Amino acid sequence: MSDTKNVSKSEKQPWYANGLQFTCTQCGDCCSGEPGFVWVEQSEIDAMAGEMRIEVDEFERRFVRDVGPDRSLVEYPDGDCILLDPKTRKCSVYESRPIQCRTWPFWDSNLKRKRDWKETCEVCPGAGKGRLYTFEEIEAERARKSV
Ligand code: SF4
Repeated sequence: MSDTKNVSKSEKQPWYANGLQFTCTQCGDCCSGEPGFVWVEQSEIDAMAGEMRIEVDEFERRFVRDVGPDRSLVEYPDGDCILLDPKTRKCSVYESRPIQCRTWPFWDSNLKRKRDWKETCEVCPGAGKGRLYTFEEIEAERARKSV
């Protein structure tokens, strides 16, 4: 009896087991809006400084802030990421953007409940449309970094 119980437990699938659709429209909305944090590791800072062809020290001075023991990108007062070009609304370090940016919208916080994904689709015009990501692909994105 307990075996049956375990099997059914382990077979319990998350609500997005059939995959989710997403195709980035490059609107820049996920880089703006409410103030928040774009967490960055040293290797990510090094890569972004490299793409901008500036020294790491300068990049850190201009674009990185300490948040307790962690570090995040600076924002404009309106919540836009400091690296979002205000004119083009494109990321100025797109090729080396941090993992947090790469894994949007497949963040734990957006996938917890169906309702969270629905809210994500309301703020992100690319979520819920376009390419179908399989469950395995979504889990691989989630494993890269939980937000
Ligand atoms: S680093 Fe680039 S992709 Fe990430 S929030 Fe800033 S502008 Fe957007």
